[in-house]
Parts: sequence; C-alpha cells; structure tokens
Amino acid sequence: MPDTNSELGELIEATRKYFMQQKDLFGNTVYTTDKKAATREVPFPDEAWVNAPSLDEVNRQVCTCLKCQLGHTRTSFVFGVGNPHADVMFIGEAPGADEDAQGEPFVGKAGQLLNKIIEAVGMKREQVYICNILKCRPPNNRDPLPSEMETCSPYLFKQIDLVRPKFIICLGRISAQWLLSTNDSLTALRTKVHEYRGAKLIVTYHPAALLRNPNWKRPAWEDMKMFKALYDKQGAAA
Ligand code: URA
Repeated sequence: MPDTNSELGELIEATRKYFMQQKDLFGNTVYTTDKKAATREVPFPDEAWVNAPSLDEVNRQVCTCLKCQLGHTRTSFVFGVGNPHADVMFIGEAPGADEDAQGEPFVGKAGQLLNKIIEAVGMKREQVYICNILKCRPPNNRDPLPSEMETCSPYLFKQIDLVRPKFIICLGRISAQWLLSTNDSLTALRTKVHEYRGAKLIVTYHPAALLRNPNWKRPAWEDMKMFKALYDKQGAAA
C-alpha cells in the first residue's frame, strides 16, 4: 500500500526547494532584461563621518546608527572585516544571527563556506575585505527592504571609497541587484564583468544558497575561476 503521507511530504519538500531556488535566482519580481544597466548612487548625507579618513574611524562614528528600525533590534552593528587596502571586496546582503551575535560578517555556516571559496582561489580571509549592504540584522533573516538598503548604502560606499578594491564580488542576487540598480536575475548578472565605483564587479551565488543547493557549487567555482583569471591578469599588468 503506497505511503501517501510520505509521498505528499516529499512533494511538498521538492516544491519548497524549487521555490527557494527560484527566489535565489530571480527574487519575487517578474522583470525583463532589456533595461540598460545603471549603477546605484545614493548621495552622502551631510554628516561628519563622511570625511573620516579610515574604516575604523567611520565605524566608530556610525556604529550607534539608529536611522532605520533595524538599529533598534540588533545586538551588533556589523561594519566589515579584513584588509583595509584589499584588492578584493566581498559584499553580502546583511548580517545573520551569528554575525549579529559576534559583530563580524560571514562567521556562521555561510561564512565558513565563504572562507573555503576564498582559499580555493589562493587567498586568505584576512587578505580580502568582507562586508554587507546592511550593517544590522533583519529580524528572522528576512530580505533587506529597499528603504533599509537606501539608508545604509552610504556606509558601504564610504567603505568602497576607502578600501578602493580592484574587484568587488557580490554574493548573491540581493547585493548585485542593489549595486547594479537592476532587476536582472542572478543568472543574467553572473559570468559578466560589471563596473562599479572604480572596481570590476563580479556576481556569484550567495554561500547560503550554495549550502541549500550544492549543485550550484560548480557554476560558483566557474565564477571564481573567472575572477581569479582577471585578478592574475591585472596583477601581471600592474
Ligand atoms: N549572509 C550575509 O549576506 N552576510 C553575512 O554576513 C552572513 C550571512
């Protein structure tokens, strides 16, 4: 006799997985890809930290930020970590529970996978710079709201302007779509070299998405090989 309950359970699980994959790739939006790509610009506010000369000083001045509601629920303001003169900057979307608890981006399971990705291209976590679009954790790990990204973006722009990376690697659809100011899917944004604030910007899967969908690890490795080839070429030219 067929076990209808377990068949139904499998069907529900497969459907859930399918929709999670679609969300990772395409988000909640139906869009066309014929829009010309622009890039995100949010003006700097008229505030003292904008003129701070170092990352530490910016962090010191902005870490008590309460400009959006996330400031009221966070444990930590998760500014960023790594080499202040890094050639490569990884940008995720927002701190999760582990990052909120420890005050450092990408320290949970996704962070451990990110470390492996970094090491796979012959680099070390300390050599690169790692941060997020949002500096505070959205409750229940929900997606960042556009209003939150708009409010928080000047901090990221200042980080980019101080570090002056040669390469930016966007981890996942949300940071890529935001910085490139587009609704194009992750699939459309990967495998291309974009320009952003003086850096070459490359888009790959979010490590958390790779944990959910191990079959995406191979294309993610292709992205990183593309990055490494460009990085080595740039080094040779410098
Ligand atoms: N996911 C992100 O996008 N950033 C982190 O720091 C951790 C998980």
